Amino acid sequence: MGNPTFLIELRDVTKTYEMGKHEVHALRGVSFSIEQGDYLAVMGPSGSGKSTVMNIMGCLDRPSEGTYLLDGQDVTKLSDVELARIRNQRVGFVFQTFNLLPRTTAQENVELPLVYSPRPGNRRERARKALVAVGLGDRLTHKSNELSGGEQQRVAIARAIVNEPSIILADEPTGNLDSKAGIEIMKLFQRLNDSGITLLVVTHEQFIANHSRRIIRLYDGKIVEDFRVADRVTYSPEEMRTLEEEHAVHGGAAG
Ligand code: ADP
Repeated sequence: MGNPTFLIELRDVTKTYEMGKHEVHALRGVSFSIEQGDYLAVMGPSGSGKSTVMNIMGCLDRPSEGTYLLDGQDVTKLSDVELARIRNQRVGFVFQTFNLLPRTTAQENVELPLVYSPRPGNRRERARKALVAVGLGDRLTHKSNELSGGEQQRVAIARAIVNEPSIILADEPTGNLDSKAGIEIMKLFQRLNDSGITLLVVTHEQFIANHSRRIIRLYDGKIVEDFRVADRVTYSPEEMRTLEEEHAVHGGAAG
């Protein structure tokens, strides 16, 4: 059993890809734990293992060796079907490219993860609540191609939180956004984290990482730094409000 105060524990996780005669050591013994409610940034140069560690944490891939405990449960031994179930229920994903269904409304996109939910309940209402939580209560019936990039990423975040997952994994969530829309997403992450949601953001931008509470830096498949952010960027209630007002006034459907 894992330590119950940790939401996530990786112990000596390695990942080796066989490439013909060569072996690629994507992760070379990575260990760290994440407490409930924490907010981490994972940094490192291209090829350092960021995506690999995120895929393992998101139950999209398995370690070659080592242990991964999610909510105290060793998920490395699960079958593919069990792994998919855990992934759907416990992990919310946010991608650089939003990955929304085109020509499909915001509400329908957010309802998607609930199709497999053990509590199908009122899907429509749960999706609506998630969209309200990301400030898009007035965009429910807009199709994804009628929304700005920042709004599309908000829909993706609503889709990630709708199942009330244990953790949100975000891969370069601001990478396709201009800086204003990017800051909007960071404000939203601050709000979600303040409400108790555990977040892990993969980014190569120091400014984005500085919004987190803890930074882990990978190099060549190993952790080379793991520290608490002493003076992280946070937004005051006033700054949060200004943005929401602007969004309501100028946030046209397209563009
Ligand atoms: P990052 O996200 O930091 O750019 P990755 O986790 O994508 O790094 O990759 C780490 C290393 O593993 C790289 O050398 C990469 O080429 C290799 N790698 C990643 N995925 C695969 C794969 N499916 N097959 C073979 N090698 C891979």
